[in-house]
Amino acid sequence: MNPEPRLTVDFTRADPEDRDLLGGKGAGLAAMTAAGLPVPPGFIITTAACRAYYRSGGRLPDGLMEQVSEEMSLLEKATGKRFGGGENPLLVSVRSGSPVSMPGMMDTMLNLGMTRAAAEALAESSGDPDFAWDTYRRFLRNYAEIVTGVDPALLDRAGEAAGRSGRPPAGESRKLAARLDEVIRNETGTLTAAPEDPREQLREAVAAVFDSWTGKRAADYRRMEGVPETIYTAAVVQAMVFGNRGPDSGSGVAFSRNPATGEKTLWGEYLPGGQGEDVVAGVRTPEPVSALAGQSRGLLEELSGLAERLERFYRDAQDIEFTVEEGKLWLLQTRSAKRTGRAALRNAVDMAEEGLIDRTEAVLRVAPGQLEEVLHPVVTPGPDSRVLVRGQPASPGGATGQAVFTADEAAALAAEGRDVILFREETSPDDFHGMVASQAIVTARGGMTSHAAVVARGMGKCCVVGCSGMAVDPENGRFLTAETEVRAGEVVTVDGTGGAVYAGEVPKAEPGLDDYFDRLMEWADEGRRMRVRANADTAADARAARRLGAEGIGLCRTEHMFFAKEGIAAMRRMIMASTAEERADALRVIEPRQTADFQGLFAAMSGTPVTIRLLDPPLHEFLPARGETASALAELGRLLEAAAGPDDRERIQSEIAAREKLLSRIDSLAEANPMLGHRGCRLGVSFPEITVMQARAIFTAAVRSQRAGAVVGPEIMIPLVAYSSEFQQQRVIIDGVAAEVFAAEGETVDYRVGSMIELPRAALTAGEIARDAHFISFGTNDLTQTATGLSRDDSSRFLPEYIRLGIIKEDPFEKLDVTGVGALVEIGVERSRSANPDVKIGVCGEHGGEPSSIAFFDRLGIDYVSCSPYRVPIARLAAAHITLTPR
Ligand code: PEP
Ligand code: MG
Repeated sequence: MNPEPRLTVDFTRADPEDRDLLGGKGAGLAAMTAAGLPVPPGFIITTAACRAYYRSGGRLPDGLMEQVSEEMSLLEKATGKRFGGGENPLLVSVRSGSPVSMPGMMDTMLNLGMTRAAAEALAESSGDPDFAWDTYRRFLRNYAEIVTGVDPALLDRAGEAAGRSGRPPAGESRKLAARLDEVIRNETGTLTAAPEDPREQLREAVAAVFDSWTGKRAADYRRMEGVPETIYTAAVVQAMVFGNRGPDSGSGVAFSRNPATGEKTLWGEYLPGGQGEDVVAGVRTPEPVSALAGQSRGLLEELSGLAERLERFYRDAQDIEFTVEEGKLWLLQTRSAKRTGRAALRNAVDMAEEGLIDRTEAVLRVAPGQLEEVLHPVVTPGPDSRVLVRGQPASPGGATGQAVFTADEAAALAAEGRDVILFREETSPDDFHGMVASQAIVTARGGMTSHAAVVARGMGKCCVVGCSGMAVDPENGRFLTAETEVRAGEVVTVDGTGGAVYAGEVPKAEPGLDDYFDRLMEWADEGRRMRVRANADTAADARAARRLGAEGIGLCRTEHMFFAKEGIAAMRRMIMASTAEERADALRVIEPRQTADFQGLFAAMSGTPVTIRLLDPPLHEFLPARGETASALAELGRLLEAAAGPDDRERIQSEIAAREKLLSRIDSLAEANPMLGHRGCRLGVSFPEITVMQARAIFTAAVRSQRAGAVVGPEIMIPLVAYSSEFQQQRVIIDGVAAEVFAAEGETVDYRVGSMIELPRAALTAGEIARDAHFISFGTNDLTQTATGLSRDDSSRFLPEYIRLGIIKEDPFEKLDVTGVGALVEIGVERSRSANPDVKIGVCGEHGGEPSSIAFFDRLGIDYVSCSPYRVPIARLAAAHITLTPR
């Protein structure tokens, strides 16, 4: 039988490897203690105790408080202080800490052991009554908020004169504590604001920390991050040290490397005379950590040295909470630093070069999604851009949206699909849902390690903090600066890289990718099996894709080449043609344009394959709107009645005739279900001259590009195939045109012909199709649409509700529905491979750039994915993660 897991364990005796039992914070403190670092002593109430608490319906397990008493006796011995009294009272903190870090999502109690008598004793023994009574006031406030549940606004008002900003003015602390005491007693109708028995305080605090495990903040966070509820939290009890104790005390947060840029220098903030909670809450804007040097000699060097030791021990950049108590440095906590994508990239490369980790680990240290941040827009203000307010650049990027002033408002507007920017005086964990919903977060107070800054950085969200020139007024839905007022709903742009908020929409540019990016991507490329191509329709897109590492084009949607204005006119003429001659005329205009465009693609992608898909225009996207044509016709009718003379009448009549023809053509082409209509290869089957024109343009462009020195790899892809006979019929046409062009040009090129697999029937009969194909490519957009029966264009009206209700976990157009659509892909892969072992298999739907879908495609042995240019690096890294992750 396994022994019962321990309910409590001392830092010096805990096994730092046992994170599940100790929680992350407890394990970290045990490791730091074992490494001989200056950590205040303490013990851990384990996750096993929390589990037992929940299993017994919210009762602390039998024997726990006895064990806690024993641990407290040891702590008294270690510190030479007494819990609950004496000249030198022992005060402790009780902090939450689950096996998975959930920063700021649970409750913390500080200064336990404080009573009126202890405050008197401390005032006497420390010779600093302000410190003693300030500590008592902090304890009362903390206890009232966390355990008694008094409204924080009421406590704020009672403590206003303290400025909520660390230490109150000299001589004021005792009065402030007394006022707070009175307010709490009045509010709760009790005789004392908090229990006078410190053991009672401790019991209540442990229960409160355990209760916060199932509080709204923690539950929301777990849902978002996929953290299971059954891992529970530990509670860490630790002797307090005081940053608010006299002039050579203070608290800070230090990062062993800059968490915004990744630069390898100690970076952080220090609040002289403040406690740790003041730094995290951002109640006062702290000084840079270098301020330590001015306060006490050697402290900065000592902290730097400790940071380096911690990095070597954990083999990662650290976020270290420290306190200086009367000149002595204490470390309270260390954890892997949350950092921006840019910093993650730079840290990984630097640490590999320093030999702290190897290259494989460096690649695995950067999550594919973090690259979004290096690829993110950068705000590029023009001469007319107006800065509303400036602050500290807490998390880089750029975002535009409507100003909102409460988290609920942010969440509500975002649910309607609006882009919002959340403005707050400072944020607290209660604002979390609003921060998740916003494009960017801006606060008036706080520093780079305040809640807003740390949370936004973790989410990769643009954020500016400490905008002291701004007063946020949520009651009236506005913020004020010296010059102006900005009301809820007004559009603003946030520059998280430069630290500014602009009026209106300001242009944004793609950032330049640096050497760190290139090096990490090179290591990723060495480690991956699956190839990555880009979906690109123009030479400019293709060049961008190549710069981002695309190894070819996996999908050029030729109908997109007509999106520019003149292109649409030519395309319309072709679609509207009612006779073969009219169509031939239109095609003659289109062909040279297509040939030139393809030459551009071949030149940009020389040496790599270029998959060009034959036209797949859902016709309605290219026709003039029926309503507009009908009203133009009505207007012409009115003009005809008022015509000035026979010439005028004749001109208007001929215009009317043309519009009538147009209208009748629009009507005759109208489809009830255009997505399932006359599109894809069905068009090429009905009008083979379109296939002929496109094939001729492709082969002519390929021969000419080859002649000009490019190494060409044309691949012609046939869309929306349902029957292998459609594919074969189109292939015969293509091969015929190739032979003609090569004979006429006196030169050949190697080419391939393949099929999209984007209908369930095509997936099920992929063997028949692949037998005659060089390649197949899964069009998972249409395959999702047709397998689920969910319209690509309209289902967003109800899919969010489906997700909210838990009917489906995620949008299947974003992440591949592995169980359903994925099964079709799997069948398609198996059947095509057994019919034709040489067939190349790709994916060119949007899922080709989405990491979890890429993992699935890799498992099936698919040869390549193809995605939009800016997702190419994400796909490269995701593919490397799959190959390099140890199984
Ligand atoms: C697809 O259907 O997945 C595809 C790539 O084609 P399109 O998005 O152009 O329909
Ligand atoms: Mg498609």
